[in-house]
Amino acid sequence: MNILLLGSGGREDALAWRLRQSPSCVELIAAPGNPGIARWAECVAIDPCDPTAVTSLAKERSIGLVVIGPEAPLVAGVGDALREAGFAVFGPNAAAAQLEGSKGFTKDLCAANAIPTAGYVRIETAAAAHDALKQFGIPVVIKADGLAAGKGVTVAMSRQEAEAAIDAAGDGPMVIEEFLEGEEASLFALVDGETAVPLASAQDHKRVGEGDTGPNTGGMGAYSPAPVLTTELEQQAMDEIVRPTVRALAEAGTPFSGVLYAGLMLTSEGPKLIEYNVRFGDPECEAIMPRIEGDFAELLYAVATGRLGEQRPELSDNHAMTVIVAAHGYPGTPKGGGLIREIEAAEQVPGVTVFHAGTARSGETLVAKGGRVLAVTAVADTFANARARAYRAVDQIDFADGFHRRDIGWRELERAEP
Ligand code: ATP
Repeated sequence: MNILLLGSGGREDALAWRLRQSPSCVELIAAPGNPGIARWAECVAIDPCDPTAVTSLAKERSIGLVVIGPEAPLVAGVGDALREAGFAVFGPNAAAAQLEGSKGFTKDLCAANAIPTAGYVRIETAAAAHDALKQFGIPVVIKADGLAAGKGVTVAMSRQEAEAAIDAAGDGPMVIEEFLEGEEASLFALVDGETAVPLASAQDHKRVGEGDTGPNTGGMGAYSPAPVLTTELEQQAMDEIVRPTVRALAEAGTPFSGVLYAGLMLTSEGPKLIEYNVRFGDPECEAIMPRIEGDFAELLYAVATGRLGEQRPELSDNHAMTVIVAAHGYPGTPKGGGLIREIEAAEQVPGVTVFHAGTARSGETLVAKGGRVLAVTAVADTFANARARAYRAVDQIDFADGFHRRDIGWRELERAEP
């Protein structure tokens, strides 16, 4: 079948790489793609958030499956438009994408279905928030809701800090929630509307600086699996969190189809949901794709057509780790245009693939474009070997305007040498 992949980041480069290796993939087209994706797919310069442009392209190229990488086209209803036009789509409709778009929607769904998550209140004004704050202990978490979310989360370690976060957010939808103590891990599940099966676990590194310091980013590195999410805990999270969510959405007439990414806190009382995303994480996706075996395109097609049934993803026992190389200035204003060389040398390290997150071609040379530039990924039989390979590869790359964290995977290292 011909496949259309929407997106242009490191996540989509990893998806394209894996799809290209699938026996059932005939033509692979990416919109808009990037220079890394162009190694595996034909890139077409259209706006992936424009439902009309995407649907026309899908018709022109006799597409059998559309894989939507990022959140923006999902929220923009590109999945809805494609389904209405009769295409098989990997990625939810806009109604189910609210799981990511609205924190209030997800919290209410959890409450109605007894899904373990932090206790919370939803409020609309700063005055009500100040009042509601009295019900909570410290630390406490303040989250602005709706479109402005993203960076609107404050984990307040004192009452003053919580008051200040409420004042800074001002009037508007907000969620205040109980602080959950534990280690965070991500669980990725494939969902075909009714059936949900676990795909893989991962852990990421949100802060820009080593030792998890400095501002939040899209993610500076990740690894998969996350051994802290044991088979038992994964099973528990599937049964208590993911499957009840899938059931509730199906019953509401807005079934979820695609990959459901559960951000979990592993508390002493078991896994609790922090947040949902309705697409693969970036860079978690880069660390998951090298572990997938079998015909990945066929698997995504089964998800898209509601035929997941008893089908289970095939995953190797290998470990994979991704180190993000970002441009100086990220996550503020990144320095663009820096020359990138020696990617081929990095890929000489066994098990290594360098995915492109933010690159552009300038004549014969490759230059940086955007904050996160490369996602250097290595796979090996153990976590320690994957990590060693990833850093050996990073050290080959010649990118004077770039930086990376040297401590990706520190939790696993600590576990190995307590
Ligand atoms: P993201 O960039 O991860 O999508 P977001 O803006 O959607 O972030 P959340 O994921 O809800 O927000 O929260 C961001 C981070 O804040 C979490 O990864 C977690 O570290 C912390 N956090 C959120 N809620 C809680 C909680 N109830 N208890 C403890 N920590 C929390």
